[in-house]
Amino acid sequence: MTFFKHKTLVENPDVTVRLMKEDGSPGPLIQMAKFHLTDEEWQNKLNADQYQVLRAKGTEPAFCGLLTDEKENGIYFCVGCGLPLFSSESKFHSGTGWPSFFKPFAQENIMEKADASFGMVRTEILCSRCGSHLGHVFTDGPKPTGLRYCLNSLALKFLPSSLLTQAPKEALADTAVPIEKAAFAAGCFWGVESDFRKIPGVLDVIVGYTGGHTDKPTYKEVCTDKTGHAEAVLVTYNPDKVTFIQLLDAFWLLHDPTQFNRQGPDYGSQYRSAIFTQDAGQKELAEKSKAALNATGRFKKPVVTEISPATHFWPAEEYHQRYFEKNGGGSCHI
Ligand SMILES: [Zn+2]
Repeated sequence: MTFFKHKTLVENPDVTVRLMKEDGSPGPLIQMAKFHLTDEEWQNKLNADQYQVLRAKGTEPAFCGLLTDEKENGIYFCVGCGLPLFSSESKFHSGTGWPSFFKPFAQENIMEKADASFGMVRTEILCSRCGSHLGHVFTDGPKPTGLRYCLNSLALKFLPSSLLTQAPKEALADTAVPIEKAAFAAGCFWGVESDFRKIPGVLDVIVGYTGGHTDKPTYKEVCTDKTGHAEAVLVTYNPDKVTFIQLLDAFWLLHDPTQFNRQGPDYGSQYRSAIFTQDAGQKELAEKSKAALNATGRFKKPVVTEISPATHFWPAEEYHQRYFEKNGGGSCHI
């Protein structure tokens, strides 16, 4: 079965963002379609000044924007697509003449891009969902981030807390797909990736390294068994379609969880069996599931699977991604 065979060939039409909950706080990670308009449609949707900033990457004159001195509590939305971008909680007076924030509403909602225009090297910020230009981010901001997100008022629609019920319709999660993540290690990651990808409700699987103590590990380094990292997969799934418990059931079936620091012909701690839990809920379910499996007596030996909190997941080199899809072959498991 090849559920997402063509996904690598086209640009991903979906984006992972956080929408606003009714109380104005960021909601869970969700996957939704990118907001796409033709140039003509953008010209119709935006006024000429907004178009100049959002679509032609213009900058409004300093001290002229309407939101620079806005001090009310509330949320700042993208004028282009209604995605919540900044909260008044992170707004500060920078004296630059543009609205300034030290962090976004949600990291996922802002894209960064190197910008070398006008003979300067700057980092442009764009809306993750509609790709509109918003401004730039600089490293001379206040604590706790040290960042200064410098915005054009024209790119933002501000709603005070008292009016958040009138938030742009696009900013509410009616068409969005909820997503959650889970990370597993079960020996050579090629086969594990391929097996998880076949499960309906699984949206994406990437292979990588996690659970160790080195940054940006390479395959070669992980092979030495000195990084502490395991070959692992990061599964993105829709919890309305497949539950974490069902993913655990699949995980137990696709390898032998009684083999310590080994899986079939592959030896070393990088091939250990592990569940890297994303939160306390996953930890509890994983521990219960492991105990239940031991109780069934399906295996003659005890299950040795490690259950530990997820740490940074380092994606593996591109040639390891979708390895069987690219190279043919089945499972490298016993
Ligand atoms: Zn947008």
